Amino acid sequence: MILLTGGAGYIGAHTAHYLVKEGIMPSDIVVFDNLVYGHESHLPKGVFFIKGDILNRDEIISAFKIHKISSVIHFAAYAYVGESMQNPYKYFHNNITGGLNLLETMKDFGCKYIVFSSTCAVYGIPNHIPITENETIKPINPYGESKAVFERLMRWYDEIYGMRFVSLRYFNASGADFGIGEAHDPETHLIPLAIRAVVSEDYTLNVFGDDYDTPDGTCIRDYVHVTDLADAHMKALQYLKDGRPSDCFNIGTSRGNSVKEIIDIIKDVCGKTPKYKISKRREGDPPRLIADSKKAQEILGWLPKKNIFDVVSSAYEWHKTNLEGVMR
Ligand code: UDP
Repeated sequence: MILLTGGAGYIGAHTAHYLVKEGIMPSDIVVFDNLVYGHESHLPKGVFFIKGDILNRDEIISAFKIHKISSVIHFAAYAYVGESMQNPYKYFHNNITGGLNLLETMKDFGCKYIVFSSTCAVYGIPNHIPITENETIKPINPYGESKAVFERLMRWYDEIYGMRFVSLRYFNASGADFGIGEAHDPETHLIPLAIRAVVSEDYTLNVFGDDYDTPDGTCIRDYVHVTDLADAHMKALQYLKDGRPSDCFNIGTSRGNSVKEIIDIIKDVCGKTPKYKISKRREGDPPRLIADSKKAQEILGWLPKKNIFDVVSSAYEWHKTNLEGVMR
């Protein structure tokens, strides 16, 4: 069976649906989630659900006792960059100590494969764009640091116990599929907030800085559709089962869009310009983050199929019918 820690969250739940769509039996999937940010209602029918916390080792052990788990996709983590600057302990404790509980339990139960949700935040402010996996690891916030440290822990569990891993360094996960979508509370991400600025009378999007060294002065990001991300997890699992070595891969589209371009695309898709105002820069925002995903293409055979219009239109479709997800 496959264990999805944090499997009721945005990327986890999309991955659960994708695995089922691709032919994995729901009864072969176990989702373990503390529901702090996840939604049990977003899961496909028939998967096993365990409400549990990675900080509670007994709860992880009990999941491994109940189910014969042969591989893990580890999504469970806190993921707000800004909050990690306010409360680093929360991030180091949950993302590192919690992750270590998981690795140690996997070792005890002889579970050898782990696919890990990492992030381009491990690179901090990159020296080169597009970013390859050879870029220096130098995170600029505790969130990125917690992910970089966990990658190093996995290396030791491989070296010592032969537990192999694939670390997927996501760029900007976005979009919606399977009748579910991005429902963070609080929401901090650009696309859902820009959609909120279309559908809600009283919300104005803050554009965090228009004085960056980019063509229109706003930050550039690589927005990758969540279903393409889900596909990367499926391919990473297969890669491990094929006996291939532990490795890290950038998962992005290799294309970037500025905040102003996203506003224009939202206008085209929604037929209405999101209300916005220029405000000051957000601390810790690198001007450009664009993936070089050749390695994932060549080694995992992963190729993103969806573009930025698919991302925005799928997000808009979902938010239109799930206004509570966007109005918080
Ligand atoms: N952004 C913005 N206003 C918002 C939220 C985000 O201008 O209300 C910008 C942010 O500064 C960054 C880009 O949009 O340049 C993407 O931010 P997001 O939080 O979606 O993802 P991140 O790149 O931080 O993971």
